[in-house]
Amino acid sequence: MTRVRLEKVVKEYDNADQVTLTGYKHPPALNEVSLDIKDGETMSIVGPSGCGKSTLLKVVAGLEFPQKGHVYYNDFDITEIKPQDRGVGMVFQDYALYPTMKGKGNLAYYFEMHEQTKEEMEERVRHTAQLMGVDFELLLGRLPDTLSGGEKQRVAIARCIVRDPMVFLMDEPIVNLDAKRREQTRIEIKKLLRKFAITTIYVTHDQQEAVFMGDRITVMRQGIIEQIGTFDDLYYSPCNLFVATFIGTPPLNILPVEIIDGQVIMQGGHWNLPETLAAVIRPGKTRMGVRPEGWQLNTPDGVLLPVSHIERIPTERAAFIHGSLLDTHVIAIASLEQQEIKHIAITPDWERVYFFEQEGEGIIHTPSVPDFF
Ligand code: ADP
Repeated sequence: MTRVRLEKVVKEYDNADQVTLTGYKHPPALNEVSLDIKDGETMSIVGPSGCGKSTLLKVVAGLEFPQKGHVYYNDFDITEIKPQDRGVGMVFQDYALYPTMKGKGNLAYYFEMHEQTKEEMEERVRHTAQLMGVDFELLLGRLPDTLSGGEKQRVAIARCIVRDPMVFLMDEPIVNLDAKRREQTRIEIKKLLRKFAITTIYVTHDQQEAVFMGDRITVMRQGIIEQIGTFDDLYYSPCNLFVATFIGTPPLNILPVEIIDGQVIMQGGHWNLPETLAAVIRPGKTRMGVRPEGWQLNTPDGVLLPVSHIERIPTERAAFIHGSLLDTHVIAIASLEQQEIKHIAITPDWERVYFFEQEGEGIIHTPSVPDFF
């Protein structure tokens, strides 16, 4: 039972004072980061490379110590506690298995180090192998060099589980696997996390993986947490333009528009803004965001989208219509059977649009979670 809390954590590396020739100064790797992860919860941490994800994980593990702020496991302040005394299990992208030990040796090593009896060790390894599922026992007799990437990662995960950690920390654990293995391994990890209900922090640069793994997701940028929430929170009520465009594939289309007399004016056309939105969005220049599924197609009052190509996605029984309006790439989702066309009239589904300030990242309006039923 572990709740993990970070309170205003600041971590700067030694090079933080360096200013580059262009005058750029590195922001702290973590800048007043506060986060509260519930017992048994899996929290995904996602953001662009260099935003501080790994540093956050290392601070929780005790591999890096912050200059300011505190880290708590339940009510214990563990900020100054050494990593080996924290009871964390870590899985990294490079597996870090002991190369000269077979799978079982990798699992058992911890017990040798902690002077527990052979019986205890055998029992825990047996129990863990059982939890790890089909065929896992076969891996115990093999050296890491003879295992595939996915198998190595299973052993690495089992090595954590066998120690019965208070907290599970994973840093891009499947990034080095090929696409098929990645898919399989991520389903396996997710099942394991469900089964164990150990509080977990899962770092990835891939937003789809973050969504799949996490009960909640933390979006970071440049050492700061931008937003914490469920997928629905981030997708339908993003806190700013960065989160709105970071979450969702393909990303939100952002169109520069002007609101005049209750109409959304685009170069080459206009849409009538429904009254409810006209009451919220002031006249003048603004930016409108529409996701691919947020366009209505072949609408009588639509703006004509010149189509560049149609991308068919048979697995989704759908097709993406690609085009551009005002030099902005627009993608609209259609059925798989969509004919080749030169133009298509499109209108936003007004219950699904976003409005942003003309400059900067401020949000004026988000759709919030739709009523699916
Ligand atoms: P992410 O995991 O999101 O890619 P990191 O936490 O690795 O980001 O890095 C955050 C910032 O801290 C980056 O600017 C990175 O260059 C810097 N950084 C990370 N580790 C070190 C280190 N050991 N020494 C100096 N700077 C570091």
